[in-house]
Amino acid sequence: MSKITIVGGGLVGSLLSIFLARRGHAVSVYERRGDPRKTDVYAGRSINLVVSHRGWTALRAAGVEAAVKAITVPVYARMTHDRDGKLNRVPYSIDNKAIHSVSRGELNRRLLTEAEALPNVELRFNQKCVDLDLETATCRFQREGGEIKEVKADVVFGSDGAFSAVRAKMMQGRFTYSQEYIEHDYKEVAFPANPDGTPKLDPQCLHIWPRRYFMMMGLANQDGGFTGTLFMPNTATENAPGFDTVRTEEQVSSYFREHFADAMPIVPDLVQQYLRNPQSSLVIIRCNPWTVNGKVALIGDAAHAIVPFYGEGMNAGYEDCKVLNDLLNEHGDDNWPVVLAAYGKARKPNGDAIADLSLRNFLEMRDLVADLKFLLRKKIEGRLQAKHPDQWLPLYSQVKFSDIQYKDAWREGLRHDRIMEEVLAMPGIEEKWESEEVERRVMELVNAAR
Ligand SMILES: Cc1cc2nc3c(=O)[nH]c(=O)nc-3n(C[C@H](O)[C@H](O)[C@H](O)COP(=O)(O)OP(=O)(O)OC[C@H]3O[C@@H](n4cnc5c(N)ncnc54)[C@H](O)[C@@H]3O)c2cc1C
Repeated sequence: MSKITIVGGGLVGSLLSIFLARRGHAVSVYERRGDPRKTDVYAGRSINLVVSHRGWTALRAAGVEAAVKAITVPVYARMTHDRDGKLNRVPYSIDNKAIHSVSRGELNRRLLTEAEALPNVELRFNQKCVDLDLETATCRFQREGGEIKEVKADVVFGSDGAFSAVRAKMMQGRFTYSQEYIEHDYKEVAFPANPDGTPKLDPQCLHIWPRRYFMMMGLANQDGGFTGTLFMPNTATENAPGFDTVRTEEQVSSYFREHFADAMPIVPDLVQQYLRNPQSSLVIIRCNPWTVNGKVALIGDAAHAIVPFYGEGMNAGYEDCKVLNDLLNEHGDDNWPVVLAAYGKARKPNGDAIADLSLRNFLEMRDLVADLKFLLRKKIEGRLQAKHPDQWLPLYSQVKFSDIQYKDAWREGLRHDRIMEEVLAMPGIEEKWESEEVERRVMELVNAAR
């Protein structure tokens, strides 16, 4: 049994505490903010995210799948809204698989409650990690009043998010690090339910308003409302407006009328919410190594902050926890240097791959989902998957509906791109995409590319 400190009791830290406590370790979670079950640290906003296959695999392994399923809404398809309000529904898979929308605050609260029910988990709130001795695994936590407490452990996990204090300390040593802000920022807006609580949009779809250089999306909440997220460059370009040029009430109102006209009746106070709600940035963080001295490790966003366009940041963090748990099964619970070295080695390439995949999916969402060739490609891929399931699994399914390692999915996705480029260039492909000729050609390319 080891004494473990987890810095950060957010989405990943709370699940990690459950995994480690179930193994018999003495786990203490130190969270900078107040207890979200007692104080409104999520500021009353209903921000939601998507749990997908890898998340479920980890939640199941930790014994909390049912507790989380109960607070989710299944989402089976993308629904695109074009400028004229025309809708197009594209299922996520050919066999009716779903991703699941959940409120971030609700999920965090539920996992903390599950963790607290375990006798060997201690949750400490309003405790900010301000320093850490990497040699002795000793953290210094500051309480709200300024009082500092030292906590020594056998192992420290930094699950303290994109701007991790644990990582900052690791950066003082031999450490490689990059931080990249993308040009797009985002703003969240709440889409209300009808007065009788029914949803105004199909809740089983992720709604997307793709506008090439910017986009809005809407994801259902359990109360019939949706959380809308607008992604737009911070600075306007010749191609697109930016948050810097859409500022006054008049500018905002004409922007929504021009680009998202069908959303305006659904969200009567869209303009006011835009003016009121904060603008947030999106950052990609890569670093190496993820562990030091066999006793300190990064996990979740602290190790791999990514852009949210695949909806995989938390899922990847949950998979980190599951892989760590598998490695403890393999190497034993008293062998931390070996386990942590294997964990870093296994997960770092996957962290990099999901960062790349997520950027790629941004292009797909804002741009391609409205593109006829892209829609044709989806149809061809769906047909291939149905006829040759062992030879063709679309990239989206690999990422969202399988445990295939992200790094393998990324490599396979690039191979699919090359094959599909040739197939979509076949003369008359729009008419003959369901023909045997096309199927034969794809299979030739699949086998040639192996
Ligand atoms: C707009 C948006 C949409 C997203 N949608 C999805 C989605 O659909 N699906 C998905 O899988 N992911 C999604 N993500 C990513 C997801 O939010 C993150 O990957 C996830 O929150 C990471 O969890 P974490 O616990 O590692 O970090 P965080 O959630 O950031 O939690 C870190 C915790 O550490 C605490 N902390 C920080 N510093 C200290 C300190 N010094 N001392 C003590 N505690 C500290 C913080 O208060 C916080 O509670 C989205 C992200 C964004 C921005």
